[in-house]
Amino acid sequence: MRSIRELIRDNIRDIKPYASAREEFNGLAEVYLDANENPFPSDFNRYPDPLQKKLKKALAKIKGTKTNQIFLSNGSDEAIDWMVRAFCEPKQDAIIYNPPTFGMYKVVAAINDVEIIAVPMNADFEIPVEKTLAQKGKILFICNPNNPTGNQQAKGTIIQLIENFDGIVVVDEAYGDFADYSLIEKINQYPNLVIMQTFSKAWGLAGLRLGMTFANPEIIDYLTKLKMPYNVNSYTQKEAIKSLSSTKKDEEVALILKEKKALKEALNQLEIVEKIFPSAANFFLVRFKEAEKVYQKLAEKKLLVRNQSYQINCKNTLRITVGTPKENQRLLSELKKMS
Ligand SMILES: *Cc1c(COP(=O)(O)O)cnc(C)c1O
Repeated sequence: MRSIRELIRDNIRDIKPYASAREEFNGLAEVYLDANENPFPSDFNRYPDPLQKKLKKALAKIKGTKTNQIFLSNGSDEAIDWMVRAFCEPKQDAIIYNPPTFGMYKVVAAINDVEIIAVPMNADFEIPVEKTLAQKGKILFICNPNNPTGNQQAKGTIIQLIENFDGIVVVDEAYGDFADYSLIEKINQYPNLVIMQTFSKAWGLAGLRLGMTFANPEIIDYLTKLKMPYNVNSYTQKEAIKSLSSTKKDEEVALILKEKKALKEALNQLEIVEKIFPSAANFFLVRFKEAEKVYQKLAEKKLLVRNQSYQINCKNTLRITVGTPKENQRLLSELKKMS
């Protein structure tokens, strides 16, 4: 197995990062004449903390990690890009992924001119372990629970992939707050494991743009060296800290899970529904007799769901997010009219 030092791109290994004014000075000054800011006070006249120390300290406590195992970014999307840029040599290295899954892995690889190796999941949306491990690449992206199918892989499957893949395994846990398990504590055991989570789904803060990456300090150091100095703005840092000391997220997740159960039962009663795939997330992949027609009719009623029919093994499917009780009732009432 290659070490992180061997896996990282040559030009990144010894790069000297841009040192921002606030990074070089540790502690609180009384007069700041170091960053060419406008000196007149407002909520935003000062640059944010480039290392988000306060936020990381609060997060580490909640997640059971150390602060040097955390990297924060402008959404997880940004972190996916930094991972590819840090480890994959354009025109030479490859990423591996298992479709149908989240579209960003492929897009980011394409932008960076990195080869994309697709190893499709089977019809039950399980990852074929042997076939996946037979591929050579720098990063294996696993979305767990998976978007758009909603299912979570068996824990043993993921562990098997982490233990045997000769590269970095990124486990994207964007929906982990709704799921049965997280692998975050495994970063202490596996140096090649990277966990990504986000404030965009369960936390209800998609507009803030805040993504979390958890990994061993060596990988975190590389990402931190690469990132733009002020990639997480001060408003986002402040609001995220506030949200961490509130019980709002847990209460809302409980409500969403309750609604999810009711929605599933109601959908099951409908004649136009052929199958509801197992979900460990806050959405369902649903197979209809005629998905395109259902999609169009819902859109006419100004009700938006996501058509996934173009994805492999997803013929005639729509992805439906669990909404508020009122929103779900409206969806069900429109669907009933079509039955
Ligand atoms: C929504 C989502 C993300 C995340 O997003 P950000 O908003 O950029 O943090 C990442 N991965 C998956 C699988 C998602 O569905």
